[in-house]
Amino acid sequence: MAYSNKINQMAEEALNSRRMKALQNQEIAKKQIFKELPRLEEIERQLAVIGTETAKAVVRGGNVKEAVAALAKKSLNLQQEMKTILFQNGYSKDALEPKYCCSICRDTGRVDNEEGRTVICRCLKKLRSEIACKELNDSSPLSLSSFETFSLDNYSMDISEGYSISPYERMKKIYVYCKSYAENFNEKSDSLFLRGATGLGKTHLSLAIANEVIKKGYGVVYVSAPDIVGKMEHSHFSYNYDREEEILNSLTSCDLLIFDDLGTELSNNYSASAIYNLINTRLLRNKPTIISTNLNLKEIESAYSKRFVSRIVGNYVKMDFLGTDNRGVKIVKTP
Ligand SMILES: [Zn+2]
Repeated sequence: MAYSNKINQMAEEALNSRRMKALQNQEIAKKQIFKELPRLEEIERQLAVIGTETAKAVVRGGNVKEAVAALAKKSLNLQQEMKTILFQNGYSKDALEPKYCCSICRDTGRVDNEEGRTVICRCLKKLRSEIACKELNDSSPLSLSSFETFSLDNYSMDISEGYSISPYERMKKIYVYCKSYAENFNEKSDSLFLRGATGLGKTHLSLAIANEVIKKGYGVVYVSAPDIVGKMEHSHFSYNYDREEEILNSLTSCDLLIFDDLGTELSNNYSASAIYNLINTRLLRNKPTIISTNLNLKEIESAYSKRFVSRIVGNYVKMDFLGTDNRGVKIVKTP
């Protein structure tokens, strides 16, 4: 996956500071342990001498094999003694080793694969994706909404004509569903389609889900349709294809994408096909998405395509929000 230089660089810097931190902590731990168990410091010094002697023996020539084997044996004995002393004093055998965040690559971000080729470690891939998600989320109100701050008080218990359920009952069901969705979220979770007039709490509930899912350690990206489509369109038509691809990568690869306010973006051929591709790619990759919109399916069909609607109808859990504009009601209630 291609990321911009900026994101790659930020990931390298983060990795570097992890590695530095591990080495600094190692120094601190060593100092403390050596103070308590001076024999260990002596062993470390002897091991360093053996290292130099081994190099010298190789350079000197002669019976190199024998000399090196003797030094290796000496070294092994010293290492064993070191481990025993640590163990007898209540330390783990690797107490003097650096504690890296990733034991696979020792926080270098690179590992050798089975064919002996150096490849990017899982931890660096994760770091890049987290940074890319964060970049996209920085402009969103992700921290403002939670399930605790969602109130059902504003939804009427009266059943309107043509309906078989009151807004209150419907929204209670939706609330319970969303809460359990967030609690049980995993890579195989369903995609959700939240439909209803503006101000009924679609954004609030999808952000509440986002916050819970983030707490579980998943990569979540929240975008509003006009904002993200505008950004992609701008990159596309200013020939900044790397930036366009980077945005698309973050949107298609995150664990959960929240695509808010579908239908409020500037509608044209570019936006319609970009949105279809995005939603379709995520479906093909089995990645959950939450779409919210105030359009009905007929309006979506005419703004996008029949194809798009059939992808959503066939693959999303549909939820119709009911009620009167929450924000209006709230203003009336404020003393
Ligand atoms: Zn790693």
